[in-house]
Amino acid sequence: MLSDCDSIIIRDLEVYAHHGVFSEENKLGQKFLISMVLYTSTHRAGVTDSLDESVDYGEVCHFVTEYTKAHTKKLLEAAAEELALRLLNKYGLLKGVTIEIKKPWAPIGLPLDTVSVKITRERHTAYIALGSNIGDTKKYLDTAVSELDSAADCSVSKVSSYITTKPYGMTEQADFLNGCLELRTTLTPFELLERLHEIELRNGRERKIHWGPRTLDLDIILYDSEMIDTETLTIPHREMHLRSFVLEPLCEIAPFVRHPVLNRTAAELLAELRSR
Ligand code: ATP
Ligand code: CA
Ligand code: CA
Repeated sequence: MLSDCDSIIIRDLEVYAHHGVFSEENKLGQKFLISMVLYTSTHRAGVTDSLDESVDYGEVCHFVTEYTKAHTKKLLEAAAEELALRLLNKYGLLKGVTIEIKKPWAPIGLPLDTVSVKITRERHTAYIALGSNIGDTKKYLDTAVSELDSAADCSVSKVSSYITTKPYGMTEQADFLNGCLELRTTLTPFELLERLHEIELRNGRERKIHWGPRTLDLDIILYDSEMIDTETLTIPHREMHLRSFVLEPLCEIAPFVRHPVLNRTAAELLAELRSR
């Protein structure tokens, strides 16, 4: 929860930039005032008195100034959204960020003090199950890990070892190689699902038979403590608690992560599955 975090606060950084829906605004530019709350833990920096342990607000201000000047948007909503995502993906110590962009000279033909857009965004933690049973299975899993890690809006923080498992559901097919990874991301659950589908497709995935053989299968197991149940996406994954090929690698990297519906840790779910 961001409300439990420490924060570094920057108020009304003045930037002359060109955001706006009118072409005059894009041409002439105007003044914007940017305020930020950087949610982080300042404890390590507090006890060591070392800037390396904190988020350097001077650097943040320079980055925000240059970025805002170089990337012109029509809407303050878009300017704020992009800045928030850039900051979260650039500074690993940031848990979240609030950004307010004020436009004191908004051209609406009426006197006003300022108009502003204020948003809060945070980094999320997701667990992804990986599986492959066609071709060079290890290469497919390794590729999925590196494609996720190299995207600007995701970073892979842990990867389990890979295990060979017997096929599930449709048993007349080759053994699987399975693993699990921990992902830090600013993508929403639905954007993440779309991203996983793109990676599967780039790696030769064809959807012919449900539970049939595949070069690469990427499933969202958990996403923070979110509970989602729609036609296209269910989180936690509907069958995670029934699958040792999911729970074993998950337990290796996150034994204490909790299933928000069953209210059990990954380690407890695995122990229960084994005792059946
Ligand atoms: P299973 O989901 O039982 O492991 P599968 O992985 O073989 O089966 P797919 O054909 O890969 O099934 O996916 C079918 C659909 O499942 C996807 O298009 C997606 O919309 C949906 N889906 C629902 N929840 C999830 C989730 N948590 N992760 C990935 N896909 C999901
Ligand atoms: Ca699957
Ligand atoms: Ca799948």
